[in-house]
Amino acid sequence: MKVKILVDNKIALNGTIAAWGFSAYVDNGKTKVLVDTGPSFRTLENNAKVIGVNLDEITAIFISHLHSDHCGALEPLINNYELDVPVFIPSRRYWGWKLKFGKLVYVSKPMKIIDEMYSTGPLGMWLSEHSFIAKIDSDSSILITGCAHPGIVKILEYTVKTLRFNILAVIGGMHLIGVDRFKLEKIVEKINSFKVEHICPCHCSGDDFLKVLLNRFSGKVHRCGCGVTINLDA
Ligand SMILES: [Zn+2]
Ligand SMILES: [Zn+2]
Repeated sequence: MKVKILVDNKIALNGTIAAWGFSAYVDNGKTKVLVDTGPSFRTLENNAKVIGVNLDEITAIFISHLHSDHCGALEPLINNYELDVPVFIPSRRYWGWKLKFGKLVYVSKPMKIIDEMYSTGPLGMWLSEHSFIAKIDSDSSILITGCAHPGIVKILEYTVKTLRFNILAVIGGMHLIGVDRFKLEKIVEKINSFKVEHICPCHCSGDDFLKVLLNRFSGKVHRCGCGVTINLDA
């Protein structure tokens, strides 16, 4: 299982463009899912080319939540590449997209998306956001969050305890900019308690959280940036 970071606020590979937003490409060898698109098509397309990802091979698109830094490139992506693929979104809110191809699938509860890949279902009181799960084997999975607006600990707790996935790796935006160090340490302690072995804090996770992770996380910390590839095998 490979996860490639296509869009992030930071650059890890020359030639990619940084942007405030998030997009990751998940490839399990036969199914290729785009989790979020980032804010702009120009950035997404440029970075995919530099990283060596063929956007026309995508089998499904997963939009974590309807903030433009996560779905801004959706419409031009679908229309320019003529992608006739399902697009999983967490609410029925009208967003004004004119999608000439593909099919919107509204996710209202935990569900299988495609080929051992799942949605947690929407969580959060004020803003509907779902997170993406991909199984590596029968007892380990990866969890990808967009912004983690419902709270990274809450999402992880729900995924592990209620949905009963064992999470080997957590990747994505964790929405922890401006959170004080004491709280960040508590969050890392909680994440450790779920026996997560890899973490890649992206986008809105914040540099303070990265520092605390580097000190306290019990597994491996992957620094995020456009062009980073995380290889996860069971
Ligand atoms: Zn965001
Ligand atoms: Zn957001």
